[in-house]
Amino acid sequence: ITMAKGDQCKKGLLELLKEGPVVGDGSMCMTLEKRGYCRAGPWTPEAVLLYPDAVKQLLREYMRAGADVLQTPCFYCSDGMFKKGSKSGEPISYTTDAINEAACRIAHEISKEGKDVLVCGGLSPVLSYFREKNMEKARAEFDSQLDVFIKYKVDFVLAEFFAYIEELEICIDVMKRSKMPIACTMRIGPLGDSNGVSVEECAVRMARTGADLIGINCLYDFDTCLKTLKRMRDALDKEGLKTHLICQPLGWRCPEVEHTLIGYLDLPETPLGSLEPRQVTRFEVHAFARAAYDLGVRYIGGCCGMEPHHIRAIAQELAPERKRNPPVEDMCPPLGYLQLSGLSNIKKKDNKQYWIEQKPGSGRPFSPALSSTEG
Ligand SMILES: [Zn+2]
Repeated sequence: ITMAKGDQCKKGLLELLKEGPVVGDGSMCMTLEKRGYCRAGPWTPEAVLLYPDAVKQLLREYMRAGADVLQTPCFYCSDGMFKKGSKSGEPISYTTDAINEAACRIAHEISKEGKDVLVCGGLSPVLSYFREKNMEKARAEFDSQLDVFIKYKVDFVLAEFFAYIEELEICIDVMKRSKMPIACTMRIGPLGDSNGVSVEECAVRMARTGADLIGINCLYDFDTCLKTLKRMRDALDKEGLKTHLICQPLGWRCPEVEHTLIGYLDLPETPLGSLEPRQVTRFEVHAFARAAYDLGVRYIGGCCGMEPHHIRAIAQELAPERKRNPPVEDMCPPLGYLQLSGLSNIKKKDNKQYWIEQKPGSGRPFSPALSSTEG
């Protein structure tokens, strides 16, 4: 039991994991961009200072949807990334520390509106590794990201979106100083990491760092993530490693980029074109959450494109295992309310199988299932 703000006690991540599957939150920068609060391109989170109410509302929606965890909305907030985010000639009036601190305050404030909702401090890859391969500088950058999360007493830390196992190992080594539970996710698909390290080796090396949760996030769709997770599980089993798996996949379908290193970023329509026709349906989320759970994944949330109603679908699908429904009581259980419709053709859809078996159409007679990577 960890002491939360004030006098209430809340369960920590490891206790929640013992009780059943944990539900994470969803998309942040991609969703804020659609709503007009984030710039496409740099994807940096200055919205926490410029539009705090918009960020708070999105976190609140994830919490109402059933998320057990709110991540500090400060993805990619490290020095080099952040300067890149300002247009030339435009003065930078906010620092990375100011953004990270505001993100912590916002996540804490909204988590207290819920019950037993954890705050997760998110660490991201740094340019000093990617561009300079400067390990000492990278370590120092992770150190300064971590300092803010220690100062603001988040409940656990998550390193996410790592393309290189070597960089992630440095980050986790730094994270241990926090004495908090540690989660980590790589942005890998079947090709393994961006240095050519296999999925299996990444999984085993992640587990051997001693992290409490290891897995994947972003870049790939449900089906690709399930294939990668299966290989991770098998590799861990072979080594007798029992580490829990975590997955926060994309909310779009993009099977054609499975064998690329940059996943959906390789699609011609990313990011401004038309990813919407590829959006997963909530019943596809039900099927994914069940399949991931059956593979042994014990922390399921979402990354880019996973909106609040998708997170709610995870919480609803896993309600029997979690022994609770999402907090939005007027939506639970969702199907029963279809009976209250005045339309008979809606009433008769009060049947989960009907929705699970449906093949959603795009409404565009000339829209192909897959787009060309030539654009
Ligand atoms: Zn993402």
